[in-house]
Amino acid sequence: MSGTPAILGGAPTRTTELPVARPTLHSEAGMLREFQDVLESGMLTNGRHVSRFERDVADFVGVENVIAVSNCTTGLLMLLKCLGRTGDCVLPSFTFMATAHAAAWAGLRPAWADSGPRTCTIDPASARDLVDRRTAVLVGVHTFGSPCDTAELEQVAAEHEVPFIVDAAHAFGGRYPDGSRVGSAALAEVFSLSPTKPLTTGEGGLITTNDAALATELRTAREYGNPGDYDSRFAGLNGRLTEFAALLGLHNLPRLPAVLDSRRTLAARYRDRLSGIPGIRFQQTTGEPTFKDLVVLVDREEFGIDRDQLALSLHAERVSTRKYFDPPLHTQTAYRGEAAAPHLPHTALLSATALTLPLFAHMSTTEVDQVCDAVEVIAENSAAIAARLETDEDAARKEIPAP
Ligand SMILES: *Cc1c(COP(=O)(O)O)cnc(C)c1O
Repeated sequence: MSGTPAILGGAPTRTTELPVARPTLHSEAGMLREFQDVLESGMLTNGRHVSRFERDVADFVGVENVIAVSNCTTGLLMLLKCLGRTGDCVLPSFTFMATAHAAAWAGLRPAWADSGPRTCTIDPASARDLVDRRTAVLVGVHTFGSPCDTAELEQVAAEHEVPFIVDAAHAFGGRYPDGSRVGSAALAEVFSLSPTKPLTTGEGGLITTNDAALATELRTAREYGNPGDYDSRFAGLNGRLTEFAALLGLHNLPRLPAVLDSRRTLAARYRDRLSGIPGIRFQQTTGEPTFKDLVVLVDREEFGIDRDQLALSLHAERVSTRKYFDPPLHTQTAYRGEAAAPHLPHTALLSATALTLPLFAHMSTTEVDQVCDAVEVIAENSAAIAARLETDEDAARKEIPAP
């Protein structure tokens, strides 16, 4: 590739903005008829579609119990409440804010673990340093859809007789290194079905567990704490999924393997095209990841510009990116004052260098190539871009054409 990057005045790679994520949806006549049936039946919640969705997910994941919930944050909150423990919640700082918020709403105090510098998932050694008598629960996260080291984390938790659960928001349909589906490990795993996640129902969540007693508790929790006799056993929530959402899930579930195949093929193309560029590294994944996010780590010394400057340069090419997860949780306003600032060197580096590039199942290979071409041209001109942005960052920002 050669040419002038848009940030230096060249023509943008694209004429329209390329989004970073898009849900892959279908609307066909059969499905619309089922929506109509739900409307005509008047059963908008607690109906047969939710129970069928739960059974289909249980078969797909290979787990005994599935509890469909209104979203992943509520699912995590109810799960943490049902564990009935107080104290510290050990979790990674390098994750989406909802992981920590659920712990905070459950009355737990976050204890921040570092993440692996290339896996981007919670570092079991860091978790081991933190788990002690005060620990209520250990929470892993399948960051960007790549499974965290559940075997090692389970071991850490077992040594201290602490429950181990997973925020599996990114990873529905993924597999562990032993081939089993994500959702079948830990005491329970919680998925998100929001539109940027691999399987979506608009809004929604799923809790998977092989613990029958816990599943019963969670079903009660989702129903205001009411097991059916109107004598609430504890302060529950309304955590239900609607029939419409369950219908969407039932239609999207059989299509998920194709969606994931496509994501993996496109991710492999990104890797082929970009891994030779000095200073661009990819997340080191395990098992079969979902690539909820296609993340590159930008080394400023080798690449010539830093992550923020690459994001700005791609924006000028009309390619959207996201800085997941920056700032890391332990430095966010909600948590900053909590305790002595923990030393999390890998988290600090990941937050400053990780960039999510566009990836969705119906993205074309041409679109992937456009992004890769743009990154190549930017790499070739990184010295000039650095000079330009460092002398006059505000001016460069202003000249970026509106998408
Ligand atoms: C999206 C997300 C959540 C929250 O999911 P909702 O369904 O929107 O509540 C939780 N944790 C992580 C890691 C997420 O990315």
